[in-house]
Amino acid sequence: MKKWILMLIFVLIASVLVPHQSQVNASTNLNDISANHRAYKEIMYLVDRSIVNGYDDGSFKPLKQVTRGEAAAMLGRALKLDGTKKGTHFSDVGSNNMASGYIVALVNKGIISGYSDGTFRPNNVLNRGEMAILLNRAFNFGGQNATTAAAALMQKGIAQGYPDGSFGAQEKIVRADFSIFLARSLNESFRIKSDEVSFSTTMYVNTGSDTLNLRKGPGTSYASISSLKSGTAVAVASSASGWSHIKVNGVIGYVSTSYLSTSKPSVSPNPIPVVKSNLTVIIDPGHGGKDPGATGNGFLEKNVVLNIGKHMQDYIEKTPINVKMTRETDKFVELADRAKFASRNDGDVFVSIHTNALNGSANGQETFYYASTAAVNPNVKSSRALSIYLQARMQEVWDLKNRGVKAGNYQVLRQNTVPAALVEIGFIDSTTDIQYIKDEADRKAMGKALFLGTLDYFYHYEGRTDVLPYYKTVGAAPSYKRH
Ligand SMILES: [Zn+2]
Repeated sequence: MKKWILMLIFVLIASVLVPHQSQVNASTNLNDISANHRAYKEIMYLVDRSIVNGYDDGSFKPLKQVTRGEAAAMLGRALKLDGTKKGTHFSDVGSNNMASGYIVALVNKGIISGYSDGTFRPNNVLNRGEMAILLNRAFNFGGQNATTAAAALMQKGIAQGYPDGSFGAQEKIVRADFSIFLARSLNESFRIKSDEVSFSTTMYVNTGSDTLNLRKGPGTSYASISSLKSGTAVAVASSASGWSHIKVNGVIGYVSTSYLSTSKPSVSPNPIPVVKSNLTVIIDPGHGGKDPGATGNGFLEKNVVLNIGKHMQDYIEKTPINVKMTRETDKFVELADRAKFASRNDGDVFVSIHTNALNGSANGQETFYYASTAAVNPNVKSSRALSIYLQARMQEVWDLKNRGVKAGNYQVLRQNTVPAALVEIGFIDSTTDIQYIKDEADRKAMGKALFLGTLDYFYHYEGRTDVLPYYKTVGAAPSYKRH
């Protein structure tokens, strides 16, 4: 045998006989964690870095629940904080507590806090929701509360929700799972890769005539990748905090769980009966042309309300109800002509759309109807009912202050001859309201809200049960009777 072959054999044997030093330490230290334990890799990673330790009897106790004190110690070591034992301002954590130094360091960094009675309760066991918040704060994952913190962990492949759609925020966490989540937080190579996730549950998009946004992450702040038609089959991996991790046509993303159903929705592609309804809705987008209306945050009222009016028109056009608009372009229309428009076009209701403004000092939504005893427009009761239903639907879609339904002496209401309402969808010069006003998806939602509010009026006030199927065009149902 040649000398170099002997050398090679020696090197090979040596490398087999002398494993990596850290593996020797870890595997010999823990007598209840074998190499095929589900958390083996993660526990070894943490033990090698002295972030978690075994017990004196050589065990790790993977199923033992984690206390707040233990969690603080592990997190403190993971963040390489100073763990020197010291006094704390918590009545139940003395300087002899093994985690006292880490608790002080974590409190100083704003990662962990005690209770309002001045205690820290170091022996209370930690639940998954608390863990999610701690990891988000410690590693700056961005989650602020239990819901957003759980969503951030899911999005990063650190935790998964349960098949029932919950995150199990109240469930206690054991040492094995805490080790997994901590290792994944510290080292991306431990995280769940999209291609390792099993998309095993088939569900169906259930959105009526609307489409469902497939997004990059679990939340509306994540970009939309594509939109899915109702009836589309999707493969679900997990759901939590209202969002499902899905795969559809090879694309992976997140959708709102509330628009998924376990059985295929029975929507016919065209639910619209052939016969036209005898109902006509008049939409009046305020201002136009030389009259910009209110302005604020770089937006003009005339453009915003025309856009929302057209969305409302789109929704009505998916039903047999007739729809007419006082203006469909950026043109000026006299108030008197708007008021006459309804009777000229055989309208049944008149909905005028506006945005408010008050030098940036007010916000919220309100709806007006004409209620003067002079009663030029005699439809006081019906106008009020129409306003109530519109305002309620507006409140459903935009989370803005409710300024209520009010009497208002506006010419388009006063001189009208049909039930008429003027909606102020929000303040265009408000920094809060503009978040909705500026967003195209939110404007579309407002168009849908005004459509549904009008249907609610027909259904509840006029007793028009024939509008019931029209709700199905958007997968909705009548509101409760409000007037
Ligand atoms: Zn206006």
